[in-house]
Amino acid sequence: MYKFTGLSILVSAMVAAVLTVGTVSAMDTDPARLLVSRNAEFKKDIIKVSPSVYTAVGYAVSPVSMIVGDEGIVIVDAGLDVGTSQEIRADFRRIVDKPVVAIIFTHGHPDHTHGASAFMDSADVQVWAREGFPHEQSALESAGIVIQKTRGKKQAGFILSPEQRINNGIAKAFWPQRKGGIFGASDIVAPTHIFSSERRQLTLAGINIELVSATGETADSLYIWLPDERVVFAGDNFYKSWPNLYALRGTPYRDIRAWANVVDQLVQERAVAVVAGHTRPIIGEKQVGEVLGNYRDAIRFLFDKTVEGINKGLTPNQLVDYVVLPEKYQTLDYLRPYYGNPEWAVRAIFSGYLGWFDGNATNLFPLRDMEEAERVAKMAGGKDKLDDLIATAIKEKDYQWAAQLSDYLITLDPKNKSALLYKADALTALAKNNLTTTARNYYLSSAILLRKKAKELSSAQ
Ligand SMILES: [Zn+2]
Repeated sequence: MYKFTGLSILVSAMVAAVLTVGTVSAMDTDPARLLVSRNAEFKKDIIKVSPSVYTAVGYAVSPVSMIVGDEGIVIVDAGLDVGTSQEIRADFRRIVDKPVVAIIFTHGHPDHTHGASAFMDSADVQVWAREGFPHEQSALESAGIVIQKTRGKKQAGFILSPEQRINNGIAKAFWPQRKGGIFGASDIVAPTHIFSSERRQLTLAGINIELVSATGETADSLYIWLPDERVVFAGDNFYKSWPNLYALRGTPYRDIRAWANVVDQLVQERAVAVVAGHTRPIIGEKQVGEVLGNYRDAIRFLFDKTVEGINKGLTPNQLVDYVVLPEKYQTLDYLRPYYGNPEWAVRAIFSGYLGWFDGNATNLFPLRDMEEAERVAKMAGGKDKLDDLIATAIKEKDYQWAAQLSDYLITLDPKNKSALLYKADALTALAKNNLTTTARNYYLSSAILLRKKAKELSSAQ
C-alpha cells in the first residue's frame, strides 16, 4: 500500500510519476529499443518513387504524394493538418511549380484528409473519394456514439510527453495544432467527385489514373493504380506494421477477410512500387511482391485459424492462445505489432461475427463488477489484504494481475488513492513492456489520468 498521508501522498505521487515517466523513456526494454530504432522510418523526406511520383514522408503522420502530369499535379492524401501540409505544398513546388488539379483521398480518416485546404490552389481542384466517405466516423456519429473521440485520444497518446510516446509505430509522434477537437478541423475540404464502381479510369492533369474500390480498413477505402508507371497507392490497407485490424478507439467491424483480399489484389497488380498509407514507400517489383504477399498470407492465416478455433467452440480468451502466427511472419519487421496487434484481431473476428457472448453459459448473466469485487475482497481476507496482494503482484512484476486486482479495489472504493496509484504503476509497467504503440499510449494515458485523480483526491482532503 502507498503508506503515506496528506501532503506526503501528493509529493510521493509526483515523485513516483516523474520516476516512472523516466523509466518509460529510458531505452531499457526491448520494445522501447525497437521503437527508437524505428524512428528512421519517420525521417522527414521527399522520396522519388517513380519518374512522376514524389512522396513526402515524416512531415506529420501520413505520407502525401504528388503525381506530376503535363497539365498540373494530382495529390494523393492530404495529411493531418493544414500547417504541415502547407510545408509539403511549398516543398513540392520547389520540385515542380504546377497547379494542383486534383486531390484523391484513399479513405476518410482525418490523418489523410484534414490537411487538404493546403492543396486547394484554386476553387476548381477536383476532390475525389469513394462512395460512403467518410464511412467510419459517420457510422458511429449517426448512432449518437461519441466516446470513440475520448478513447481515440488515449489510443493516439496526445496527452503524453515526447519521452513517453517515442513514436506511433507507423508514424512519428505528432501533436496536431488544430483548433477544436482532436478529430475535428475547422477547414475540412469535402469531396467534389465520388466514385462508386469497382474500378474507374480517369485522366487527371494528363495522367492516366485508376481508382479501385478496396474495402479493408474502412468501407470507403480505395487504392490508386498508375498503369503507366506501375505504382500503387495502397492507403491504409498497407503500411509496415501488423495492420490495425481492430482499432482500440472502437469502430464498426473491420472486414478482415476483405482486407486480405484487397492486399491480394494489390499483389496481382504487380506494381514496381507501393506507396503505403503510413511509413516509407517500398520500391522494387520483387520486394513489393514479397512484402505484400506475406502481408496477405499473414492476415489470411490469422483469419482462417481464428475461424477454425471458433468452430471448435473456443472463447476469445482461449482463441488468443490458439492462434499463433507462424515464426516466419513473427520475424518480419513489417509484420511486427508496432501499431495493430494480432491478439486484438482474433478478438475482433470473434465479436465481429458472433457478437459479445463468448459461448460459455456462465457468462450469460455475469456477476456485476461490485458483486464480484465484494466476493474477491472477502476471499482475500478484506480490502487491506487485497491491497497487500496488489503490492506483492507489483513487486513480482505480475503487472496484469496487479491491474486487475486494483480494479476490484477501485470498484469497491473509487476514491481509494492507493489502488489508483497502484493501477497507474501497473499500467505504466505494462506499457514499457509492450511494442504496440496504441496499447502503450492507452496504458500511459490511463496512468496519467489515474495519477491526476489521486492527486485531486489528496488536495481535496
Ligand atoms: Zn492512416
